[in-house]
Amino acid sequence: MLEARIPSGRIEQKWDNCRYEMKLVNPANRRKHSIIVVGAGLAGAAAAATLGQQGYHVHCFSYHDTPRRAHSIAAQGGINSAKNYRNDGDSVMRLFKDTVKGGDFRAREANVYRLAEISGNIIDQCVAQGVPFAREYGGLLDNRSFGGVQVERTFYARGQTGQQLLLGAYQALEEQIATGRVKMHFRSELLDVVIVNGRARGIVTRDLVTGQLHCHAADVVVLATGGYSNVFYLSTNAKASNCTAIWRAHRRGALFGNPCFTQIHPTCIPLSSDHQSKLTLMSESLRNDGRVWVPKKKRENRAAKDIPENERDYYLESRYPSFGNLVPRDVASRNAKEVCDEGRGVGPHGQGVYLDFADAIHRLGLETVREKYGNLFDIYQRITGEDAYKVPMRIYPAPHYTMGGLWVDYHLMSTIPGLFVGGEANFSDHGANRLGASALMQGLADGYFVLPATVPDYLASTKLDPVNTSDRAFIATKAEVKDRINNLLAINGNRSPDSFHRELGKIVWDNCGMARSDSGLRNALARIPELREEFWRNLRVLGAGEELNQSLEKANRISDFLELAELMCTDALDRTESCGGHFRLESQTADGEAKRDDANFAYTAAWEWKGTDQAHAIHKEPLAFEYVPLSQRSYK
Ligand SMILES: Cc1cc2nc3c(=O)[nH]c(=O)nc-3n(C[C@H](O)[C@H](O)[C@H](O)COP(=O)(O)OP(=O)(O)OC[C@H]3O[C@@H](n4cnc5c(N)ncnc54)[C@H](O)[C@@H]3O)c2cc1C
Repeated sequence: MLEARIPSGRIEQKWDNCRYEMKLVNPANRRKHSIIVVGAGLAGAAAAATLGQQGYHVHCFSYHDTPRRAHSIAAQGGINSAKNYRNDGDSVMRLFKDTVKGGDFRAREANVYRLAEISGNIIDQCVAQGVPFAREYGGLLDNRSFGGVQVERTFYARGQTGQQLLLGAYQALEEQIATGRVKMHFRSELLDVVIVNGRARGIVTRDLVTGQLHCHAADVVVLATGGYSNVFYLSTNAKASNCTAIWRAHRRGALFGNPCFTQIHPTCIPLSSDHQSKLTLMSESLRNDGRVWVPKKKRENRAAKDIPENERDYYLESRYPSFGNLVPRDVASRNAKEVCDEGRGVGPHGQGVYLDFADAIHRLGLETVREKYGNLFDIYQRITGEDAYKVPMRIYPAPHYTMGGLWVDYHLMSTIPGLFVGGEANFSDHGANRLGASALMQGLADGYFVLPATVPDYLASTKLDPVNTSDRAFIATKAEVKDRINNLLAINGNRSPDSFHRELGKIVWDNCGMARSDSGLRNALARIPELREEFWRNLRVLGAGEELNQSLEKANRISDFLELAELMCTDALDRTESCGGHFRLESQTADGEAKRDDANFAYTAAWEWKGTDQAHAIHKEPLAFEYVPLSQRSYK
């Protein structure tokens, strides 16, 4: 069932071979094809703009009121590329190797190599668009380091890299909108994918302002709808980010890859109250100059400045001397949890570690530190009221990114023919743990370079019958969407959508978060169906269907999180090994590191929806490591 369509040839030649073998659509014929792109974040905006530029009719959908509000705008730290401007030993091969190793050998080698290969083109593309990357005094593009690597390959625009990249993609999209080749559909939320004769041929959307449902037909559908970290309720993602698009596609037949692979980011502002609904990231770039430490003594109550050097534990530097504060995220997060669990955490709830800039300020000067990270220090001050130039920041891990997503082949096509998936929405190239600054790279590789090559190949090599929205499949799918909305409105119970979401998030965080165990996962798998049952019995959605109704929007999205959360725990239970962000307590090395089981788990788990209240079926894509031999990850 799983055909990854990995091209032949040596790894360096696969993408070239693939591009050479793919079919093209004659420029005069392109305008005859219509393409739906759902999502206008980095992946979606890049894909829609590029396909529009090629001459296709593109319809781009977003539940936001402008592409500039996509969650991508929040990305802070940077984007990787193997340009080797630093001449510090970087290369495509090294970026490839770092990413395979960083993902704990659970990604597909061919895809990762392509990502590394394309990374150089992305920077050229963005510079040509005018993206204002940071530059050195002499005018050359500047680079910094991110976790899990020993070179400086991260391009950045202060702490606003996502914003600047998105403005570049948005500009390209606007140009195509002006030519009429791309039509934007704002405040339109995809609620289902329409399958005609086994192929994705359209979508059903809800107009978030009027509440009306609409059908849209096309030759091909691309989903670039972002990640699902908000399943945890508290995460660093934008509040609106959700799983509905990919989950509804999953229910229509698209297999879901590695749902339990989620990333808990080590440097976030700790939770300060039970009423909080959002967590804030402090970019990983801060670990370039900030030093992580906790007091050696348990339940220390002195202020940081009163704790002398010899009573501080710079635990990352001592445990991982080669990588120090720049170990990968999974390793940094687990270590922070461990020292806090020991009772050495700092801050009001003991759930925090220090990220200290005193040495950096002493070494580089206050102005240099301000230039590099000024806006991050400002964010920190606004949220905590503390001045991190004077006292160390307090940080704690928080849900941040999802490596899992819809399973796609090398062409980024899901198991539904004609349904392509890009950016964070697919199960991506990051295996069990994503390295910092690699999500922007992947989203833009997919959007600017991969999808604009593979989608045309699909169009050129597939005989597509004409379809329109009066087709039976559209009418039936729209009716199902309407029924689901009416059911949500009719429950009329006592609990708000948010209260269910909060409870679900806690179950998933406690049992399928930074550490997972057999008993915890079984506990979650018992509680989630109970909560789902109560949701459909006791939910209260205020307002009506045919109007602007945010309570209904939330309820709809939470109904999908309630199903996805169960699949995440099922996947996590099934994978009895530890790997990357998936840390099974039963599977540790003697010194507490993640212990993989390559003999039994060197595969991607791709889960098939079998129907409501039916168990999912697992399919396995075996992973072969020809170019980066399997080895135990070590950052010591
Ligand atoms: C705080 C933060 C900082 C980060 N910093 C970095 C960094 O420095 N470097 C890095 O590499 N990565 C970073 N990341 C990760 C990175 O930002 C994301 O992985 C990436 O931006 C995702 O882009 P995307 O295009 O796939 O999705 P998104 O940007 O989430 O866009 C999704 C789009 O889909 C639309 N959409 C979703 N569902 C529907 C639906 N049902 N119907 C209609 N439209 C829909 C939305 O409106 C939106 O336009 C960061 C993440 C966070 C949370």
